[in-house]
Amino acid sequence: MSKKPDSTPDDTPTADAESHIQKLVEEFEKRLRQEMPMGPVTLEEIERRADRLGEQVKEAVQKELLDLAGTGYVGSSVLCSCQRSARYVALYKKQMVTLCGIATVWRAYYYCSTCRKGFCPLDAHLGLGRSQCTSAVRARLSRFASFLPFGTAAREIMRVRLSASTVRREAQAVGVLWSRRA
Ligand SMILES: [Zn+2]
Repeated sequence: MSKKPDSTPDDTPTADAESHIQKLVEEFEKRLRQEMPMGPVTLEEIERRADRLGEQVKEAVQKELLDLAGTGYVGSSVLCSCQRSARYVALYKKQMVTLCGIATVWRAYYYCSTCRKGFCPLDAHLGLGRSQCTSAVRARLSRFASFLPFGTAAREIMRVRLSASTVRREAQAVGVLWSRRA
């Protein structure tokens, strides 16, 4: 019987993932120390600190996991769907609104001169479409925008600045019928 080579179980983080985990742990410890009260505080103050910490942790985790996903750069050229070669052009930035805040995604952009179109391989990996909001954000916006002004819904619920027209468009994209105006 042949001996199986030492293998890494699928749920063990890679060295790259491990460095992101360590970075997050250090970041969390630093923030936790900042939020730790030096003396007696009210429940409201505890609530405020816990909420702030939670928001910071969400955003930091999202950023690290996105960093881990990379840019989708796979070399100076990549195979296009037409089976010809598409050449690397540059890194393009896309900002997405997620439930964890604004996510800045840097994506390697490739251009196929045969098809005369470009694409970012990372978009497919991350499931990015044309929208600047994730489907979870769109669903939440549409729920709250039914009784709040569009701009207020974005600011109050998502804690982000989105124009009223953007909120309307994103909310309508999930199929909500509008009986009111912003
Ligand atoms: Zn092509």
